[in-house]
Amino acid sequence: MFMRSEKLLIPLQKPANPDPNGAAAIQELLGGKFGEMSTLNNYLHQSFAFKEKKKLKPFYDLIASITAEELGHVELVSTAINLMLEGSVPEADPVSGPLQEAANLRNTHHTIVGGGGHQVMDSMGHFWSGQHVFASGNLVTDLLHNFFLETGARMHKHRCYQMTTNQAARDVIGYLMVRGGVHQAAYALALRKITGVEVTKMLPTPNIDDAKIPEARKWQEIGSHRKLYTWNMDGEYADVKGVWSGPADWADGEELEVLPGLPDYAAEGPVMEESRTLFSPDYAPEEIYEIAAQLMAKGGISPLQPGDGLHSRFQGSVPNSPGASAQEGVKTEPNPTKPKKKSK
Ligand code: MN
Ligand code: MN
Repeated sequence: MFMRSEKLLIPLQKPANPDPNGAAAIQELLGGKFGEMSTLNNYLHQSFAFKEKKKLKPFYDLIASITAEELGHVELVSTAINLMLEGSVPEADPVSGPLQEAANLRNTHHTIVGGGGHQVMDSMGHFWSGQHVFASGNLVTDLLHNFFLETGARMHKHRCYQMTTNQAARDVIGYLMVRGGVHQAAYALALRKITGVEVTKMLPTPNIDDAKIPEARKWQEIGSHRKLYTWNMDGEYADVKGVWSGPADWADGEELEVLPGLPDYAAEGPVMEESRTLFSPDYAPEEIYEIAAQLMAKGGISPLQPGDGLHSRFQGSVPNSPGASAQEGVKTEPNPTKPKKKSK
């Protein structure tokens, strides 16, 4: 199981300007065949189906800890897309047609379906699919597949980097290129431990030098290209050291490191603002902001009573609705009796 933190993997600033068409391209890094949804779900399901994980713990721990990191990558790329979309739609009277320009954007789902939010799809609008998951039950084949997946992912990131100058997107891509390099190297190391084959020497492709990308170079400078995290504070998954240790030939012979928990540079991310044109978060924001403020004033006590479902919480957001009485402190009128439907 997983714990959640209200931190983004890296500190991220809001970009100066929106770039909705750039965001449509970056969708490939989220929901494409080589995107973060794919890396996450490949490793996640390989780890669930792993055979003899106790006897093969260093290899299991490798796949399990990279899984947890990929979940953070899904969050990072989604956040970059949302930041690129923020402010791309004018706030104006609906009669004036404020969404006309959005009709000409590459991805109309961002506006119509997502209300200014990312979609779980690639850059051509194909929804991400479980068909992109490869979990064969054969460890060597899975590791080779994962190496190939990270290789393709780095190539796509490098191409997407060149498709936008949006700083939020470039900050995320630069970091993920370095982390993808770590994963690529880790799967290659695991293969070498098992088979003696050095796939990076057999297949030195793509020839991407992260040091030439400023947003990637800064992570190399602090040694991020040598570090793997376990995303766990209790010493579980620490046997990944069996794979990830010793001097790295791609890091001037410096030592590889496994660290417990999460990176110390993780930080709270920017807050996305409302868009009234898109009814995000709602048609009457003042009402739900007020309800939330009242709830927080009461010390964060949930208005839900035992046995209440999510349904009643939504109902309770509307005065006089059947669920309103479930909300302590929110004054409501008694429910008016609904007129019964006349039967014919
Ligand atoms: Mn990733
Ligand atoms: Mn990866």
